[in-house]
Amino acid sequence: MNFDFSDREKAFFSQVNDAMIDYAGSRDLESGDLSTIHGHLDGALSRLGPMGYLKLGISAEGQAVSGSLAMMAAMETLSGVSASIFLSVEMAARFFGRILTLWDLKEDKKALLKRLTDGGLIGAVALSESAMNVENEPLATVGVRDGSRIAVSGAKGYVVNGPVADWYAVVGCLDGRVVAFLIEKTAPGLTLTGRIATMGYNGVAICGLELDAVRVPQSRVIGPFETRHWLDTLKMWENQILIVAALGMMNRSFETARDFAKTHHSGGKPVIAYQEVGFKLSEMLTLYQTAQLYAYRAAWMADDDPKAAGVMTLCAKVFCTEAAETVAGKALQVLSGDGYRSGSAAEQAYRCAKYGQIAGISSEIARVKIGDAALGRL
Ligand SMILES: Cc1cc2nc3c(=O)[nH]c(=O)nc-3n(C[C@H](O)[C@H](O)[C@H](O)COP(=O)(O)OP(=O)(O)OC[C@H]3O[C@@H](n4cnc5c(N)ncnc54)[C@H](O)[C@@H]3O)c2cc1C
Repeated sequence: MNFDFSDREKAFFSQVNDAMIDYAGSRDLESGDLSTIHGHLDGALSRLGPMGYLKLGISAEGQAVSGSLAMMAAMETLSGVSASIFLSVEMAARFFGRILTLWDLKEDKKALLKRLTDGGLIGAVALSESAMNVENEPLATVGVRDGSRIAVSGAKGYVVNGPVADWYAVVGCLDGRVVAFLIEKTAPGLTLTGRIATMGYNGVAICGLELDAVRVPQSRVIGPFETRHWLDTLKMWENQILIVAALGMMNRSFETARDFAKTHHSGGKPVIAYQEVGFKLSEMLTLYQTAQLYAYRAAWMADDDPKAAGVMTLCAKVFCTEAAETVAGKALQVLSGDGYRSGSAAEQAYRCAKYGQIAGISSEIARVKIGDAALGRL
């Protein structure tokens, strides 16, 4: 495995970093009402689109860098700038976008993908329902054929970008097989629930969806797919996003705590002079860098050995998302009063970190699957 990036790749990461730091400027990207969040996301997408960031993993045409490893490094750059913008952008472009790539309607697909990768469209993926049904129960969102159309009914509990999306990929069943229904925000029968207030990611717009016989033409059905395999693929894409989100949190937490420890004085000296503070920083850096290696290895395997990449991604997800909580917790301890104030980077990371352990494949389910794989049962 080769961790070296080319000069072209490094230049691209710098371009993403500089543009997004400049965009973040004095904006608070980690909170806001729906219209503010919508504006922030539109602004971020319109900067990321022209530089080719939104094409990564989606369109081979005109990609700024290629391969999952370079894609992960580029994503890590964005996740280091803002947790909320990162999650919103990735769920719109990478998660929704990768589902779109499977659509077999060539011309429509091309047009929609172009809008998405140019940054002119917000997408959302509605998969989970009332519980971790994807693992425990069959999907209850179902399409029923009605002449040339399909009437889709069901409910989705949490959808990132739900309140601001232009298009939704709603995962459900048709003729007993799993598909994604492509549904526009204006479709009759589609209702958005109120915005869901959450513990972290307060700069992300989240709501539920209710679908009451939403009529979808057959041409807007992506699939069908072999159920288990496709749901695993969707979860793997989501897990990759959550892994990188965790890296960004660790990066911000570590850097904030390190800079504070060097500049903040207590008892007549910078707090870095206290050995226990130094130990904490060293544990944080070790965890962060180990998580980074794990994440990059999983990304590299996605190209090199896709069959084995599923379990490796689960291992990386458990490690990285749990490490993010630990690193943010240690950063808060070093930052003490300064960190405990609402809005500090470590405080935000601490609240966001839990989401990574719950969403995608949860830490509990991931551990069961990793154990099954170790026993040769997968
Ligand atoms: C802020 C937020 C945003 C979200 N955004 C989206 C989105 O954009 N799109 C989308 O589709 N979904 C989204 N989700 C849904 C998210 O993926 C689910 O919350 C997640 O799958 C957990 O489901 P649940 O909350 O119903 O937990 P439950 O299924 O009720 O699980 C509760 C507990 O039981 C454990 N458990 C459940 N089943 C098993 C099992 N088989 N083996 C071992 N342990 C088990 C779980 O690990 C957990 O600890 C979002 C959720 C949140 C909180």
